[in-house]
Amino acid sequence: MKRNSNLALHGGEPVRQTTLPYGTHSIDEGDIESVVGVLRSGWLTTGPKVTEFEQTFAEFVRAPHARSVSSGTAGLHAAMHALEIGPGDEVIVPALTFAATANAVVYQGGTPVFADVDPRTLLLDPLQVESNLTSRTKAIVGVDYAGQPCDYSALQNLADRQGLGLVADACHSLGARDLGRPVGSLSHLSVFSMHPVKSITSGEGGVVTTSDAAMANRISLFRNHGLSKDHRQRNEEASWFYEIRELGYNYRLSDLQCALATSQLRKLPSWLEQRRSIAKRYDSALAGCGQVVPVQTRAGVLHARHLYVIRLRLDRLKVDRAQIFKALQHEGIGVNVHYVPVHLHPFYRRVLGTGSGLCPVAETAYEEILSLPIFPAMTDRDVDDVVQALFKVLNAYSRTRFHQLSKSFGRDRSNPSRPFSGDTGKTQWVQPL
Ligand SMILES: *Cc1c(COP(=O)(O)O)cnc(C)c1O
Repeated sequence: MKRNSNLALHGGEPVRQTTLPYGTHSIDEGDIESVVGVLRSGWLTTGPKVTEFEQTFAEFVRAPHARSVSSGTAGLHAAMHALEIGPGDEVIVPALTFAATANAVVYQGGTPVFADVDPRTLLLDPLQVESNLTSRTKAIVGVDYAGQPCDYSALQNLADRQGLGLVADACHSLGARDLGRPVGSLSHLSVFSMHPVKSITSGEGGVVTTSDAAMANRISLFRNHGLSKDHRQRNEEASWFYEIRELGYNYRLSDLQCALATSQLRKLPSWLEQRRSIAKRYDSALAGCGQVVPVQTRAGVLHARHLYVIRLRLDRLKVDRAQIFKALQHEGIGVNVHYVPVHLHPFYRRVLGTGSGLCPVAETAYEEILSLPIFPAMTDRDVDDVVQALFKVLNAYSRTRFHQLSKSFGRDRSNPSRPFSGDTGKTQWVQPL
């Protein structure tokens, strides 16, 4: 029997004709108007929209200070600078993150030290942080993987005991909370990204929030060449004079971008609701699926659901994650993988001598993880397509014998209002055994 013959990978009908992306931005007329308004205003950069955005953002995350920067990566770099990371200093980062988390340490001449993640949550494990502490450790960076805040009270206790800086890489977790407190106020320094796949966008952009006025000031200087006064201040004072007190960069965010970001931020609460409802729909569809293990959420956390990550039970499948990934792509489902553990990248292998075996939990997770599409504009129907495609693929590659798919399997293309043929309108999934 040619069991796999209905997979799109083998020439079968795909679940979707056009690929559903794993994440994408939403732009409406209000966003466009806000940017056009700036174009007509005369202030394209270092103007009033920057201050307005920073104040709005700080209020949203209940942080005393927010500083916009040109990207999340620039924000991480600014945080490393604010903590005075330099040559000889070690900064503990989780192995399972986007490379920028570690790269920012290297920009400052510091050394990233990769700590393993908790197998349940895939968040930086405080015990692993502890076992990587040395006399050179200067800071810890937690990463709010997939949109779930780390246990910052545990990390802060550790940091306080050792006199270390603590940074939240909150590029996934804008809008998340821990015990009611918003991300952005959970750590002395928190870094956000506004890249288009993130929860709000300014094209490119980032924000650093802090509870510390001196750090906010250091970041203001750092993003503007280390200049003592910005263009607007000098304009207001009709003065040409400024001083370079320390080396900075041009990491500014323009008024065009800040106006877009302010407009986007207004929609964030409803987008978060949509993300959470999509995640819930996935949760219930996948609850009984023996081939998939969900990533757990810590008690007390309100998740931002930037990513919806599943782990494959490879022991119950005949193929590896790469094959499942390829089969889902052929079905029109834009799955992704977050992330290749940073210490396995050639750059870090070469420069730091890292390699497999350093962070076994992250390495094992990497073989099993798959990010399913999630973004605010996704409909229930889109979610159902993902689930249908996932079950179709898992069934084809399941080690255990799958039960008959019969009439309920496969969309009825002749009647798009009915999601599945043989279905009475109520969503019905065929779960792999
Ligand atoms: C997106 C991201 C970054 C970098 O943000 P950019 O705005 O793309 O520079 C850093 N860390 C994590 C965890 C991210 O997801």
